[in-house]
Amino acid sequence: MAHTPDTAPEHALARRTLLGGTGLALAGTLAGCTGGEPEQDAAEGSDAQTEQRPRLPEPEIITTADWGARTPAIHLHTLHERPSYLVIHHTSTANTTDGSRTAAVDLAQMVQRGHMEQSWGDTGQHFTVSRGGHVLEGRHGSRVALNDGHTFMLGVHALGFNAYALGIECEGLYMVNPPPQTLYEGLVHICAYICQQYALPPSRIIGHRDVVKTSCCGDAFYPKLPILREDVRRSLETGEYQVTPGFGPDNLVDDSEITVNNYRDYVRG
Ligand SMILES: [Zn+2]
Repeated sequence: MAHTPDTAPEHALARRTLLGGTGLALAGTLAGCTGGEPEQDAAEGSDAQTEQRPRLPEPEIITTADWGARTPAIHLHTLHERPSYLVIHHTSTANTTDGSRTAAVDLAQMVQRGHMEQSWGDTGQHFTVSRGGHVLEGRHGSRVALNDGHTFMLGVHALGFNAYALGIECEGLYMVNPPPQTLYEGLVHICAYICQQYALPPSRIIGHRDVVKTSCCGDAFYPKLPILREDVRRSLETGEYQVTPGFGPDNLVDDSEITVNNYRDYVRG
C-alpha cells in the first residue's frame, strides 16, 4: 500500500536527502538492505541485455483507456531514465473471490478514485495485479514507457523511492496466506516483462517493507519474493514465462474472510 508523506518514517527522508537524487548511490545503499551484491547485480544486468536471448512477449495489460480511467488531475512527470527497483505491494483491500476482468476493472477504478482523493493526481502505482491475475495499468503513461524501455512515470507508492522505483500493487491482504496462484501468475508475467524491458536484474525486485517501515506486502507474501525473483530470472533466461506451481492457494476462497481488521486471529503460533 502506498503511503502519504505524512506517515513516512524519518529515516527514509534522511536517506533520500543523503543520496542527493543519484540513482547510482541508491543502488549501492539498497544492495546492503536487501542482501544483494552490487557486482552480481551488474552481471545480471548485462546478461539481461544480451541480444541472443529470446524475448518475452508483452503480457496482456488492461490499459487506463481500457478500464476507463479518469483524466489525471495534475501533470504527470516522465523520468528519462530506467527504474532501479521494482517494489511489490499489497492493496490491503478485501480478498475477493471474484477473479473476473470486471472485478479487476472495478478495482482499478476504486484505487484511482482513492489515490486522487489523496491528491496524488492519478493512480499512485504503475501497475496492478488482480486476484484473478489480470494485469492493469495504473498511472497513465506507464505502459507506453514500459514498452519503450527507457523512461518511466514518476509514481506515488514508496516514499523516498518514487524517483527510482516502479510499483506494483497486488490486490488483497497477505498477512496470513500468500496470494492465490492466479494472481501470482499475472505477477510473474508483468515483473518478468518489466525486468526485460528495463534490463532490470531480478534481484532488484523488492518488497515495500525493504524501503519503508510497513507491513506491506504482507507477512505471508514477503518471504516468498525469492521464488518470484527466481521465476523472473528463469523467464528471462528462456524467453518463456516460468511460474512455480503452489506459490499460493489454487482458489480464491481460502483467505476470503481475512481482513485488515481480523487477520491477527488467523496468524498461527
Ligand atoms: Zn506498499
